[in-house]
Amino acid sequence: MKYIMALDQGTTSSRCILFDRAGRICSSAQKEFKQYYPRPGWVEHDAQEIWDTTLEVARTALLKLKAPAADVAAIGITNQRETTVVWDRATGRPVCPAIVWQCRRTSGMVDELVRAGYTELIRSRTGLVPDAYFSGTKLRWILENVPGARERAEAGELLFGTVDSWLIWKLTGGAAHVTDYTNASRTMLFDIHRLCWDGELLSLLGIPRAMLPELRPSSQVYGWTPFELLGGEIPVAGAAGDQQSALFGQCCFEPGDMKNTYGTGCFLLMNTGARPVESKNGLLTTVAASLPGPPQYALEGSVFTAGAAVQWLRDELGVISSAAESREYAESVPDTAGVYVVPAFTGLGAPYWDQYARGMITGITRGFSRAHLVRATLESIAYQTCDICRAMASDARVPLTQLKVDGGASANDFLMQFQSDVLGAQVLRPECIETTALGAAFLAGLAVGFWKGLGDVRSSWECARVFSPEMDCARREELLGGWHRAVACARGAARTDGV
Ligand code: ADP
Repeated sequence: MKYIMALDQGTTSSRCILFDRAGRICSSAQKEFKQYYPRPGWVEHDAQEIWDTTLEVARTALLKLKAPAADVAAIGITNQRETTVVWDRATGRPVCPAIVWQCRRTSGMVDELVRAGYTELIRSRTGLVPDAYFSGTKLRWILENVPGARERAEAGELLFGTVDSWLIWKLTGGAAHVTDYTNASRTMLFDIHRLCWDGELLSLLGIPRAMLPELRPSSQVYGWTPFELLGGEIPVAGAAGDQQSALFGQCCFEPGDMKNTYGTGCFLLMNTGARPVESKNGLLTTVAASLPGPPQYALEGSVFTAGAAVQWLRDELGVISSAAESREYAESVPDTAGVYVVPAFTGLGAPYWDQYARGMITGITRGFSRAHLVRATLESIAYQTCDICRAMASDARVPLTQLKVDGGASANDFLMQFQSDVLGAQVLRPECIETTALGAAFLAGLAVGFWKGLGDVRSSWECARVFSPEMDCARREELLGGWHRAVACARGAARTDGV
């Protein structure tokens, strides 16, 4: 057996990558699918299209290599998290469009839970801050709004799943209705300490137990593909939500190991080992992907606007013609001439949690140029990351020594060097930046013995470049001081109530 197949089911596209034992990409295929915005703030996907595109890319990736199914040792899945699917057990058809993680339709339900005083219960059981983002209220919405759904769910005719569950069910011809702990930990229905569905939260949200998937470790054989799908019976042997999968794909197996994915936004996760750490800085506590046995936990924080700020420079301001060009402009000046950009276009996330913050450019003088603006925008991505890293290190009480990076903007050498400088820690960029898919491949490959253990997997993780801090401490603190003053200016900017 030569390959592990990773199915990376994302928000805008489905992808398949075949990895070999050395963790190298041997073949890949990708297909975008349609986004539906039926009302302001609503986002939907067609779950059938999610499955069709997934199967199509799996077949294409095999075909490109002319590889038979017998060459594939196992399939691992990684997926957009929280997106909610409900389907008919008998026909395998979704009963309504999938409600996507970005969809805000259940904000009112969440407000009610908060007003009724359930914030602490939710936080202590699930590690989450109550939000419409998570699956729980989306599932309740379906039960309340799709005719007959509640009765049919109670009778055991309907099944619920996040995208991992849906794909595993389809891939195993309906034999396995399961979800892994990392995906379960994003539903707001799962007790992250006892690793079970939480009875109290289920009754609070009116969710019938009969429709819930069985809970499984992230690395385990869940079932086999029927012959007709891919031309062979392949074990489906691993699953993890995209961010947890990336943490695993970056080999962050030890407490304190941390990764940041620089995409449209940034997603930071820190492994906290066997200990679920409660954050004092508004970070989420979540289950990390691990081998069967005692669970591993992680702290998670996100930056809302990161690479999107580079797109803003390109598309709205027209000051650069490509994202990659930002590096040349940034390096053409020695500093930002005292200017800070705070790209709080949609408010600020952890550790500020200010939905009224708005974008701000501070400290402009007559010499301010395009290059300074570009540099200050890139630096803002590093500062926001630094704020979260420091919050994590303080919550978990571990020193900050290195950060592993991936995602589109991690290709920017200026940004990575500046990140290392303001963190005062090494930044490690791997050879394979497809770490999300790689994590799912590792999880599946470990379950079937394709890799023998974490040590074996570690040796197929290759570092392409290490960025080490070159800035002295005083300069770092001076810059961070300026950044925090700029953040203070941005905070509350959209308030109209005079607070
Ligand atoms: P996503 O998965 O969120 O779509 P990607 O990982 O594909 O994101 O990364 C794309 C983002 O990274 C875009 O917002 C883009 O502006 C930014 N980006 C891509 N390349 C660079 C670069 N060389 N320098 C800075 N930002 C970049």
